Amino acid sequence: MSKQIWFLTGSQGLYGDDVLEQVRSQSAQVSGALAAAEAIVPEVVAKPTLTDASAIRRMMIEANADDDCVGVIAWMHTFSPAKMWIGGLDLLRKPFLHLHTQVNRDLPWATIDMDFMNLNQAAHGDREFAFVATRLGVPRKTVSGHVSDPMVISRIGSWSRAALAWAELRTMRVVRFGDNMRNVAVTEGDKVEAERRLGVSVNTYGVNDLVAVVDQVSESEIDAIVEQYADLYDVAAELLPGGARVDSLRYGARIEVALRRFVIDGGYGAFTTNFEDLGGLRQLPGLAVQRLMAEGIGFGGEGDWKTAVLGRTLKTMAAGLPGGTSFMEDYTYHLEPGQNLILGAHMLEVCPSIAAATPRIEVHPLGIGGREDPVRMVFDAAPGDAVTLGMCDLGDRLRLVANEITVVEALAEMPKLPVARAVWQPLPDFSTSTECWLSAGGPHHTVMSTALTSEHLTDLAEMLGLELALIGRETKTTQFLKELRWNNAYHRLALGF
Ligand code: MN
Repeated sequence: MSKQIWFLTGSQGLYGDDVLEQVRSQSAQVSGALAAAEAIVPEVVAKPTLTDASAIRRMMIEANADDDCVGVIAWMHTFSPAKMWIGGLDLLRKPFLHLHTQVNRDLPWATIDMDFMNLNQAAHGDREFAFVATRLGVPRKTVSGHVSDPMVISRIGSWSRAALAWAELRTMRVVRFGDNMRNVAVTEGDKVEAERRLGVSVNTYGVNDLVAVVDQVSESEIDAIVEQYADLYDVAAELLPGGARVDSLRYGARIEVALRRFVIDGGYGAFTTNFEDLGGLRQLPGLAVQRLMAEGIGFGGEGDWKTAVLGRTLKTMAAGLPGGTSFMEDYTYHLEPGQNLILGAHMLEVCPSIAAATPRIEVHPLGIGGREDPVRMVFDAAPGDAVTLGMCDLGDRLRLVANEITVVEALAEMPKLPVARAVWQPLPDFSTSTECWLSAGGPHHTVMSTALTSEHLTDLAEMLGLELALIGRETKTTQFLKELRWNNAYHRLALGF
């Protein structure tokens, strides 16, 4: 069954059956407009008008219990005395959006009378409702405006994607092949707290458990994958059948078949590797990781499970949108006055969903890991607006740090850098972005998405109850530093005792 968003309409019995029938039919117009909107991804399901506390409470219990329900939208068409909503709202555990709207766009100036006023009073019905939601501290997104306004649909659409990502996190499983890179701090974290707060379950296998699967892959399975490479990518001649280094590509394909079996068939949404712990693997997995990421699997290098989790989460949120989403690492800078840029890459593992053109498959030495030369896809990221998102564990809680960026074309060819890479301009400018990022303790590993915006990330953080330190077009360093201090106080208090 497809994922659903439940559309709840509030009213009360006082108005009588005739008015409630008008409420029902007008509510169907609003929910129908949402259901027809392409930007709102899950199915929008209209529920019967709610007019008393017992029905409201029952509806929220059903929303909680239904795994297909990823979120709830509520609209008070008329006046729905909100003490009726206390019990239900207090129980609700699904992502929640309060839509403040009305069925008519224009006032019927010539004909308006008190009957019209009594039927169309969301302007105060929604205020009554929002008071109780605020009094109870219910996390929510509030969207105001007529459903014919594309901005209203777009903002609900962003929330609907975040709700799908939230649902994915609740049951996500992540496998780590080996532990963290030795002595690295920012990739560590509290996996128990992550499972409690986010739902995701993160567990480790020895890398040789993967090697056992690698060793069982058949030659015909490898043939099939190598054929795909030749069809889909620009493969270096030395790697193709008959070429001098065909065995390198075949070993890369062997790792891919094994990773598919272990990770995808095993029901995992994300995985990590660690170049310090490769066991019996002959190559650091590069091409294979890139291929799994392109299919929606999250990845983190050096045991970085938090970034792997974010990878899967953002890929779920972005599914079907133009652009791509990838594991990324801030690597080195271009600091020419007036044109400060960040060059991002990883040793190998950048997702081809962000590529500007057909990736090239090549094999080159890698000065790290101490194994055979690994195969990898080489490409440049497509220019455009994007976001980067990282997660750090501050000891008492998880913090998300994000930056609005513009991916640009490289200023020149980089013929001696045979890895996938992205060049971007961080917003609002290099100094503000990096000074804020460092002050927030943001990691060097991130997920970059050219498909998502900061609104998607904001909606997701709200659903998860996580701090989002967002560095964007309007950010001023002094204000940002104050926000971090205020956030420290708020989020520590919000943890409770
Ligand atoms: Mn790294």
